[in-house]
Amino acid sequence: MNGAEPHKSNEEVTAKAPDDLLAAATTAHGNAYVPYSDFRVGAALRAASGKIYSGANIENASYPMSRCAEQSAIQAMASAGERGFGELVVYTQVSPPATPCGGCRQVLVEFGEPSVPVYMVNGQGETVVMTLAELLPGAFSLKQV
Ligand SMILES: [Zn+2]
Repeated sequence: MNGAEPHKSNEEVTAKAPDDLLAAATTAHGNAYVPYSDFRVGAALRAASGKIYSGANIENASYPMSRCAEQSAIQAMASAGERGFGELVVYTQVSPPATPCGGCRQVLVEFGEPSVPVYMVNGQGETVVMTLAELLPGAFSLKQV
């Protein structure tokens, strides 16, 4: 090594999540139904209309039927007739802040442009931000169908 500052990827950049989305994600986090894992997740996104939709993870005795918070938020948005969002906050209590799972990344790119920022925040005040393109490079999307 030459002593130069190591390269920092965008995922290491600390940014502040929008207050209104963080508040909605925190509320959703409190509503998570997690009797099996006790791992709470809250998500909130700003749809193209400007309206905020939120979701929590909802588990089920039939484990595969459980739903992630990000997917709950997307389903709320799409069920309301909206077809796009501009930013998303995912709130957990783990450090570093939890990232969306692989399945959620695929669901998110269905309705979000590659440049959409995803703020991952935890209760300790840590924030990591990545774009959808960074979270799911080479995504399979409607553009390819
Ligand atoms: Zn997920």
